[in-house]
Amino acid sequence: MSRTPFIAANWKMNKTIAEAEAFIQALLPKVGAIGDVDIVVCPPYLALQALVDSARGSSVQIYAQSMHEADSGAFTGEVSAPMLTEIDVQGVLLGHSERRAYDNETDRALQQKVPRALEAGLTPILCVGETEEERERGDTERKLRHQVQEALEKVPAERLPEVVIAYEPIWAIGTGLTATAEQAQEAIAFVRALVEDQDKAAGEAVRILYGGSLKPDNAAELLALPDVDGALVGGASLEPDSFAAIVEAAR
Ligand code: PEP
Repeated sequence: MSRTPFIAANWKMNKTIAEAEAFIQALLPKVGAIGDVDIVVCPPYLALQALVDSARGSSVQIYAQSMHEADSGAFTGEVSAPMLTEIDVQGVLLGHSERRAYDNETDRALQQKVPRALEAGLTPILCVGETEEERERGDTERKLRHQVQEALEKVPAERLPEVVIAYEPIWAIGTGLTATAEQAQEAIAFVRALVEDQDKAAGEAVRILYGGSLKPDNAAELLALPDVDGALVGGASLEPDSFAAIVEAAR
């Protein structure tokens, strides 16, 4: 089964609109015509419109970093699927460990958010992963099973292949610690088997990314693993050269 590689930049709370615009103008000549990798940038909300306009017609897609499950209502500070699709945003990160930790994003909410994103025409990137303590206790698979099964429960089988899953061990995010090739392959193969339990063909088709201190110098090894279809990149996505080098490593 050949799956198109997928490389996504998660900028978190970094870059003003002007800085985001400067980045995209530097990135597009490097990767804007690449057709064999899905390339995604997730800027802060305020820069979405500018980047959608600048990246239009190129191979770079613009995703949001989060989304509420309701379309509208009394949810101060939140943003909904129709607000994102109105400005041609193409997808959304869901369940990032920082949203789970600081904004109390729950598996139960994700069970509504993932199908809602798909219905609205947004590609969801569902983030899952264990803490250091959970890994040390031998609870990695239990945690992944819970997160994946809860979040995908209400996704119709025929739409499962459109979901992108990012396996991000929390102990590797922003720490400079990277999962070994063996740890990444083992966890991602396990996540794929969980999707296969739901639907065999979907498990083979779904793209599963590695995330956690991935950089140009360790990207090739991790991206060559049989079940790793790409990467979700934080720190190393903030410079156009570094992000472009990771996109090249995926080809
Ligand atoms: C992330 O936040 O999704 C991430 C992978 O961050 P970093 O690459 O900085 O570890």
